[in-house]
Amino acid sequence: MQYAELVAVYERLESTSKRLEKTFILSEFLRKADDEKVLLLAQGRVFPNWDQRELGMASKLLVKAISVASGASAERIEATWNATGDLGKAAAELVGKKSQATLFSQPLSCPKVFDNLRKIAEMEGEGTVDRKVQLVAELLTSAQPNEAKYVIRTILQELRIGLGEGTLRDSIVWAFFGSSTGAVYDKEKNELIVERQEEYDLAAVRVQEALDMLNDFVDVARKARLGVLEQVSVIPGRPVKAMLFQKAKDIVDGFSIVGKPAAVEFKYDGFRLQIHKSNGKIALFTRRLENVTAQFPDVVECVGKHVRGGEFIIDAEAVGIDAVSKKYLPFQSISQRIKRKYDIHELARLFPVEVNVFDVLFAGKSLLKSSFAERRKAIESMVDSVQYLIKPAEHLLTDDQAVAYEFYRRSLSAGNEGVMMKNLQEVYKPGSRVGFGVKVKPVMDTLEVVIVGAEWGEGKRGKWLASFIVAVRDDAGFVEIGRVGTGIKEKIEEGVSFDQLTQLLLPLIVSEDGRGVKVKPRVVIEVDYEEIQKSPTYSSGFALRFPRFVRLREDRAASDVNTREDLIRLADGQRGRGEQ
Ligand code: AMP
Repeated sequence: MQYAELVAVYERLESTSKRLEKTFILSEFLRKADDEKVLLLAQGRVFPNWDQRELGMASKLLVKAISVASGASAERIEATWNATGDLGKAAAELVGKKSQATLFSQPLSCPKVFDNLRKIAEMEGEGTVDRKVQLVAELLTSAQPNEAKYVIRTILQELRIGLGEGTLRDSIVWAFFGSSTGAVYDKEKNELIVERQEEYDLAAVRVQEALDMLNDFVDVARKARLGVLEQVSVIPGRPVKAMLFQKAKDIVDGFSIVGKPAAVEFKYDGFRLQIHKSNGKIALFTRRLENVTAQFPDVVECVGKHVRGGEFIIDAEAVGIDAVSKKYLPFQSISQRIKRKYDIHELARLFPVEVNVFDVLFAGKSLLKSSFAERRKAIESMVDSVQYLIKPAEHLLTDDQAVAYEFYRRSLSAGNEGVMMKNLQEVYKPGSRVGFGVKVKPVMDTLEVVIVGAEWGEGKRGKWLASFIVAVRDDAGFVEIGRVGTGIKEKIEEGVSFDQLTQLLLPLIVSEDGRGVKVKPRVVIEVDYEEIQKSPTYSSGFALRFPRFVRLREDRAASDVNTREDLIRLADGQRGRGEQ
């Protein structure tokens, strides 16, 4: 397919804010596409969602590539960039103005764009910078101005076409199940009319389930086209969207949601690790599906020794334990292990973790449809119990409130967050926050929010970003709910510091305006607050009173943060914060 065809789709998508219309445009495109791989480019990616490889090219290098392709000086490119606020647009303008007409260059094709971008992501090490610049310049030289715009935006991972994962999923349903269910789009009314709604809804559920298992839009679109979605299952080696849990007010509420008897387990305050074994190799993924195998050689070794089975996927919480006192440590004390790229063995020695296995998705075959009681049995037969290293999560079967409460107290005094209560009959549902399990914890509600902007400090804080604009999720993206500056430290020894946050946010800046900056929504933090108030000041229509930084949540993605719906619910409830 020619890249121009894809760009025409990008332009149509960018020109409408209506979600249904976007879905329609994409579904038409997908139905006709000769290769579902274009779905990746439509997402602005070159690797599937579960593949962590990134293009990793700083805007400075892109300026260089634009300069090579257009002959314009870096200063001129930066001036145009400042004027338009979009390096993609700057490229379009300058590539369009290039003095030498490139009459003999080939029109850009999707595979060509794909290949060059993949090569960039695969190149590592010194001496590759020039080669990367060349690869981009090569694309820009053959590009029409509007094509150049999207090439640059793709590399910056900022397509700006307003395409969320929900729209992508719906477009797969529409493309491959639309005609069989009599789905028609009424553009005038912006309505989708479906003759056989139930069938259509069922297809939507199938597509979503397949996505949760495979995490790969291309793969799922292919299976949908072939009509073999029912055959999709989890594959060891390929991360699965984790099943999430609801919250219960207390033990009594917990029993009323999950039924009696229930499994009650320690809720460890660590981070979730999905542990895979396939072809003799062990791989570890975080809840955000990041591959962290290299960071945890200690876990790989202990899983290799103490978990039986040729191929499996298990769900576990890795929790830090004090190397000397052997007491559980809070998440923050080991969070640095997740991102660390060097001194890994040293860090493993200083900050050992204990692996608590609480679920199993695959053991020689898929166990997704097995009951939790059966899955727990499987865990107990697969996983050795080795103190301070690995074990099945602490677990109790009971229908007695007093017994469950006693267990809850025991969990808290061991340094855990609370307990999980689980329905014994239910299956494992990837990606869903279903009531098959609930968490009970005594702490007051905090919110998980993403930083979308910040302001440079004044005086002695002048070199740092010092006030952070935070947002929650909404259908349309992210909506702001307040500014946080309290709770962040000046010295790193005291906790998360301004300097640390500044370093995290600097590469994410997308625009600057006076002292304020806007950043890509990537850094997730947990905040405490006194109250949620209605307020016109922020785009959510709510503001947090006295928000306070609690901790960095490296284990969370922007797609995990709280939603505007949650705010509405919390603002309605505001049941005496801190009680429970
Ligand atoms: P939350 O992060 O507050 O939504 O709580 C759910 C998380 O608790 C899961 O994603 C796990 O990372 C963690 N967790 C700790 N212990 C358990 C357990 N026994 N069963 C399930 N999840 C657990």
